[in-house]
Amino acid sequence: MPHKILLDESEMPTAWYNIMADLPTPPPPPLHPGTGQPAGPEDLAALFPMPLIEQEVSTERWIDIPGEVLDIYRLWRPSPLYRAHRLEKALGTPARIYYKYEGVSPAGSHKPNTAVPQAFYNKQAGINRLTTETGAGQWGTSLAFACAQFDMECEIWQVRASYDSKPYRGMMMRTFGGVIHPSPSELTQAGRDILARDPDSPGSLGIAISEAVEVAAQDPATNYALGSVLNHVLLHQTIIGEEALLQLAKVGETPDLIVGCTGGGSNFGGLAFPFLREKLNGTMSPTIRAVEPEACPSLTQGVYAYDFGDTAGLTPLLKMHTLGHDFIPDPIHAGGLRYHGMSPLISHVYEEGLIEAVARPQSECFAAGVQFARTEGIVPAPEPTHALAEAVREALACKESGEEKVILTALCGHGHLDLPAYDAYLTEGVNDHSIADADLRAAVDEALTHLPHLA
Ligand SMILES: *Cc1c(COP(=O)(O)O)cnc(C)c1O
Repeated sequence: MPHKILLDESEMPTAWYNIMADLPTPPPPPLHPGTGQPAGPEDLAALFPMPLIEQEVSTERWIDIPGEVLDIYRLWRPSPLYRAHRLEKALGTPARIYYKYEGVSPAGSHKPNTAVPQAFYNKQAGINRLTTETGAGQWGTSLAFACAQFDMECEIWQVRASYDSKPYRGMMMRTFGGVIHPSPSELTQAGRDILARDPDSPGSLGIAISEAVEVAAQDPATNYALGSVLNHVLLHQTIIGEEALLQLAKVGETPDLIVGCTGGGSNFGGLAFPFLREKLNGTMSPTIRAVEPEACPSLTQGVYAYDFGDTAGLTPLLKMHTLGHDFIPDPIHAGGLRYHGMSPLISHVYEEGLIEAVARPQSECFAAGVQFARTEGIVPAPEPTHALAEAVREALACKESGEEKVILTALCGHGHLDLPAYDAYLTEGVNDHSIADADLRAAVDEALTHLPHLA
């Protein structure tokens, strides 16, 4: 059995897969916060170009990838699928573990899969500047790269905790031509309001989104781009799962278990949705499981309710599993998983019982990340170590039971710019921050009772 299962460029899928076409029930629509009515295209037009708004609500099963986007994808796609023989051997497991490696992209993660088409459609619409937020810096780096491809400006608000702890991401964003501000910043009303209350705020993705949205909403020549959560983002990421389906077919395997880490849900949805289609078709029956950090457990401990996507309340209301839009998670190393909400599509399939979810402490995740690095030779980003920890648990359970499960995960990014996190883990260890259900429930209830028009 090979280590590496590759596709030729000519085998790369040329359409994204839209799960909306195959869901047994449609997900609840986004609502306009002022009226409480479903948000229409005109409500989103201040932030997004029309083709992306159309993709957001589309029920077409396949959406063709534009030729210019395919051309840029070919810089790193198709990405390799690996069989983790050496990790399996170290664990002594009869399970077969496969990982789809997205760290080969220009930013070192899956995020350019959506950054490139988002920049493309905006450029076509005559937009020359995009604003965005970033946590660990993966999304900001990806959008800066994509904007450079189309000769556009890119302005990025980075969560303060990550801005301070991950200086190399900032250098990379600037190298790609991005302009970065630590968030909260003095440049926006949303940022100034937070700083007035808490001058030392570590920031959060919700705050950074508020800042980037505020700037884009005020300037007709500027749009906003979101790196996760929304339907069109998950759509673009399905290239991961479509390739993985072809690659597993080449070696005659079907997965029994798919695990992925979830921040806003895009790498997980991108890997899992094509397999969920096959499951709904009856051609395979994998268990599909999201893994989130104990410090930010939106699926496992949040409520399923309408909430804002950002902290200041500037976005449409999204029906999702949420910890409340003013929840500020502890500054764990997996910055990309520190988001208060969850993709409405992931939330919906979870609510429908089509996927499972678990939360894991970061110490267990780092242990799995280090074991993976030492066996497979790739230092994973802290985010996908959550999925690896779950794969390791399952593989060890297989060792007990003798089951030969096929486990598939997305190694959605490498950790070359997250080495200080590994250093902290190896020298002092890391803290685990779980949250008592009762404390969380009170905070979520408090955040959601202030929502306009909604019970
Ligand atoms: C952004 C990011 C995540 C979290 O976002 P999702 O939308 O849940 O995928 C996870 N891993 C990496 C490497 C990231 O860059």
